[in-house]
Amino acid sequence: MIKRLYPHKRVKYWYAYDIDDICALYSDTGLHAQTVRTWVKKGLKTIDKGNPALIYGYDLIEYLKKYNTRNKCKTAFDEMFCFKCQDARNIFQRKTAIEHKAKTLFVSGHCRECKTVMNKTYKMDDLPKLKRTFHVGGVLELYDCEASPCKTHLQADAITPQSESLNNAPQGNLFG
Ligand SMILES: [Zn+2]
Repeated sequence: MIKRLYPHKRVKYWYAYDIDDICALYSDTGLHAQTVRTWVKKGLKTIDKGNPALIYGYDLIEYLKKYNTRNKCKTAFDEMFCFKCQDARNIFQRKTAIEHKAKTLFVSGHCRECKTVMNKTYKMDDLPKLKRTFHVGGVLELYDCEASPCKTHLQADAITPQSESLNNAPQGNLFG
């Protein structure tokens, strides 16, 4: 999947956009209305949750800044991007949970600095290295991908922070 970047400088701060307006702003990237709707689902604010959706320029700018930073930011194998810190961060106690959908591994862990949940995708081939690098809490196969169409985007709220178990975690056995 190729991630495209959407320069936020094209957006006027005080302007209200509908979804078609936003697509027109980035027509050169082939931005599709469905993509904008996905942004709305993932947290892009709309005005009064109206239908059709209207979005303030400043909310769009804010969203695109995060979106662009996330996709620009290079993280090392054992790092993930923390939205709160807006930077690459190590994983708290190297504890991760892995979800497996199709050929993609969705790995989540807590930011070592601020304990916010972070997510990152890895390839199936990375699994042995992941197991050497992190404490892996469990590999979950959520969907039977042979039988049903796969949704491969991660829902942020599908991950429950496990702050209690983190605090009580046994120490030491890194490569167990
Ligand atoms: Zn953080």
